[in-house]
Amino acid sequence: MASIKRLPRPLLSTYEWQIEGACRSTDPEEFFPGDAERGNKRLNREQRAKALCATCPVLQQCFDHAMAVQEPYGVWGGTTPEDREALRRGVAV
Ligand code: SF4
Repeated sequence: MASIKRLPRPLLSTYEWQIEGACRSTDPEEFFPGDAERGNKRLNREQRAKALCATCPVLQQCFDHAMAVQEPYGVWGGTTPEDREALRRGVAV
């Protein structure tokens, strides 16, 4: 469950890294799945999103943000929600 309590204060300086995101002009559905998406379709989409993240100049900031706020949805900083959950539990991904 997402919680806005974990979000940083809504200051420009906190979020301005997003302006440089490689995904900024990409279809959001490449990073956030539809409810019915499963299996290979999901894996393929996640791999495409992660490939774009690998080229992103703000990958580290994006990853740090997603981990700090425990972002439960979508690909952030080259990680899926499952990747981030595994990292939080100390499991290498
Ligand atoms: S790391 Fe990935 S999700 Fe984050 S801003 Fe860059 S392209 Fe977008």
